[in-house]
This record gives sequence, C-alpha cells and structure tokens, in this order.
Amino acid sequence: MPRYRTLHLDDEAGRLRALRRYDALDTAPEAGFNELVALVRRIFGTRIAAISLIDENRQWFKAIEGLDATETPRSIAFCDHTLRGAGAMAVPDAQLDPRFVENPLVTDAPGLRCYLGVPLTTPDGYNVGTICTLDTDPRPFTPEECALLEGIGRLAVSMLEMRQAVRLDALTGAKSRRGFEQLLEVALLDRAMTGPHTLVMLDIDYFKAVNDDFGHLTGDLVLRRVAETIAAHARPEDALGRLGGEEFGLLLKGLPQAAATRVAERVRSAVSALSLPELRGRRVTVSLGLAELQAGWKIDDWISRADNALYVAKRAGRNRIAPAA
Ligand code: GH3
Ligand code: MG
Ligand code: MG
Repeated sequence: MPRYRTLHLDDEAGRLRALRRYDALDTAPEAGFNELVALVRRIFGTRIAAISLIDENRQWFKAIEGLDATETPRSIAFCDHTLRGAGAMAVPDAQLDPRFVENPLVTDAPGLRCYLGVPLTTPDGYNVGTICTLDTDPRPFTPEECALLEGIGRLAVSMLEMRQAVRLDALTGAKSRRGFEQLLEVALLDRAMTGPHTLVMLDIDYFKAVNDDFGHLTGDLVLRRVAETIAAHARPEDALGRLGGEEFGLLLKGLPQAAATRVAERVRSAVSALSLPELRGRRVTVSLGLAELQAGWKIDDWISRADNALYVAKRAGRNRIAPAA
C-alpha cells in the first residue's frame, strides 16, 4: 500500500525541497539507519547496502555498508534510475544492462554486477532517495524480494519522518510540519465560516553560510531568534510551524492577502533588524511567499502556491515578499 497521495516524478524542484525538509544531507551517522542497512545486507546476503539521498548532482549516503564511500556523482548512480519510478528496480546483471554496462562502478572498482533498490517516497509524493543493495556477482531478484525491500523502504521513510518531527519542536517551539498541516486542514474546513485565511511561507536566506561561518550552535540560535520574531508578529489565533530546517509557515487566520502582506512586511523588516552579537554584524534576512486560500483548494495546493511564491521571492533577490501568482 502506498503511503502517499500522488507521486510527483517530474517536479525536480519540489523533489529537492522535499529532500531538504528532512535536513538529512551531510549529517552524522545515526544508529537507526545504520541498523536498517545492516539488516538489508543480512537479509539479502549481499556485500553492499545503502540508504542513498539524491541531491541535485550527487547521491549522498545516510548509511552504507560494504563500500568505502560517502557520496558519488548522481550521473553514475544506479539509484538515480530507481528514483524515476514507483517500485523496486532490479538489475540482475549490470554487464547485460545497456544502462549500466559502461558505468565506471561496473567496469572499474568495485565492479558492481547486481542491484536492487526501491525509492524512498515522502508522504507528499516525492522520491528523495533509495534504499538499495548491491553485489559484485550477478543474481536474480524475486518479486518477493522486491516487495520485501519496498516494505523496508516505507520503514525508512517513517524513520525520516519521525526524526524530523522530533527535532523540530525541541529547537524552536514552533509546530511540527505535521501539526501545522493539521491546522491548515482545520482552516480549510472552516473557511466558509471564518472568512479568508492566508498562508505565509518563510525561508531564511543564505542560512547555510551562517552555519558554515559561525557554526551549527549559532545557526540554532538564529533559528530560535527568527522563530521568536515571527511569533511576535502573529496573533493568538495564528499558528507558526517549522516546516523544514530553516523554513517556516505562518497561518494568518481571517486575513485576506492584502492584510497578510502587511504582517509579512513587518516580519521581514523585524528579522532584518535583528542584531545578534554572535553574528558579529552579519544580518539575517528571510524571503516570504503568500497565498490566500481559494475555494476548491486542498492542503497541497495551498502549500505549493505559497511555496512557489516563496521561490519567486528568492529568485528576485531574497529579503522580500512575493504574492501567489
Ligand atoms: P537560500 O537563501 O536559497 O534559502 O539558501 P540557504 O543557504 O538558506 O539554503 P540551503 O537549503 O542551501 O541550506 C539550508 C541550511 O540549513 C542547510 C542546513 O545545514 C541548515 N539547517 C537545517 N536545519 C538546521 C538546524 O536545525 N540547525 C542548524 N544550525 N542548521 C540547520
Ligand atoms: Mg534558506
Ligand atoms: Mg530552505
């Protein structure tokens, strides 16, 4: 049984956003994912197993056994092919498969010959990575084995989701993504009674550079201060959610887009005025995208409209607000 509504196979920008929301790239090894990979290797009796996250131009291994690598170029990743479909992808003999026969991982060390991988599909329908197993001898994979790995893949996604849910609340006190989406669902149902609602999506600009230049702890502090600043401009009936690493959602209840834009402008300006001694004069800014709920929209429509507006604000130069198209 799939655990997602619609599978978005042709939305690479949305896929990368879904991946980034997990904040799992370039993070330290974690016992749960290592255990899972060790289990896959034992179940299949194969040399190599991995949980691979497919970034824009690379595959990065959240966990890997049997191969001494942390990442490979996306262009030679078997897993990039798995990502393009819904179920397991089996390659019984890479030397007989035109897609892989000239792959350097096949022709040179480690001399891969067989592969079985399944996509890790998020609840909102994006394939962000895979769990896979490989060996240096050819071998067939049965439908039962494919189904087994698909089940393990769903477990891996659940672990990513739980990991995210736990991390969010602790740092900023904002709602978790799931909690926030439940509130959006309520707003959607009572729209007729309580009037217009506007969703604001906010993302801290160049936040990676804050971590790189001042360290992760200072990054965490900035996250808390930004969350506080946004919350200070919300009314009690509004809700703030942390939707990903440095991405927030603000639900402004009963506000049409024009009034919400004024709130958003105050938030933008207040964040850019923050002065943190830890940042030694560096300013923090946010980009914001707005979307007023329209009749007939589902949660996903609402979020993606606001999200697209946010990316318009980013592309236009950051530290600014963009309304939904
Ligand atoms: P942009 O202006 O395009 O948004 O650039 P950006 O650098 O803000 O965006 P990018 O998505 O490249 O980087 C986001 C960074 O946020 C990467 C990740 O390490 C960091 N991050 C995510 N979650 C946390 C967290 O909980 N604490 C800290 N300190 N950093 C985090
Ligand atoms: Mg950012
Ligand atoms: Mg971001």
